[in-house]
Amino acid sequence: MPFPTTLDEMRDQGYVFQEGATCQGHRCQMDIEWWKTPNGKLIPIDYRSDGKIIPHWQTCPDAADFKKDKEEPKKPITTGATFTLTDQQMLDDLAGTKCRGCGGTKGRRMSHCRACYFKLPKKMRNDLYKRFDSGYQEAYIESLKFLNARRVA
Ligand SMILES: [Zn+2]
Ligand SMILES: [Zn+2]
Repeated sequence: MPFPTTLDEMRDQGYVFQEGATCQGHRCQMDIEWWKTPNGKLIPIDYRSDGKIIPHWQTCPDAADFKKDKEEPKKPITTGATFTLTDQQMLDDLAGTKCRGCGGTKGRRMSHCRACYFKLPKKMRNDLYKRFDSGYQEAYIESLKFLNARRVA
């Protein structure tokens, strides 16, 4: 079945409006609507000025993050489960290229890979700019707890 292009087509095909929302993409923040498909899946929808509708991932500047989130299989927690890292471990993390948030690759001197970093609330991101021994360690642990909670949610 082709994807509907208007509201009427959506209703005809059995799509049901769920709720209005704001896209959580870090650059996007657009108003979207969630609809339930005939298969019971939730999809985000954009209205265009010409009255047509399109799936939000076709226009979202953060679509890459977004799709990845949806497709990412739930991984078992293998890192940071206790969140008691030594200063040396945290320094090693900073110097290295392995993201403790997801096990992926990150840049040196970064706390996390881009994907993990942008999952963090703004305040947590800012806290990660604190200096070592001036709040960085606490911020890093908090961010790992946050990422970990999201992964198992
Ligand atoms: Zn978006
Ligand atoms: Zn990561």
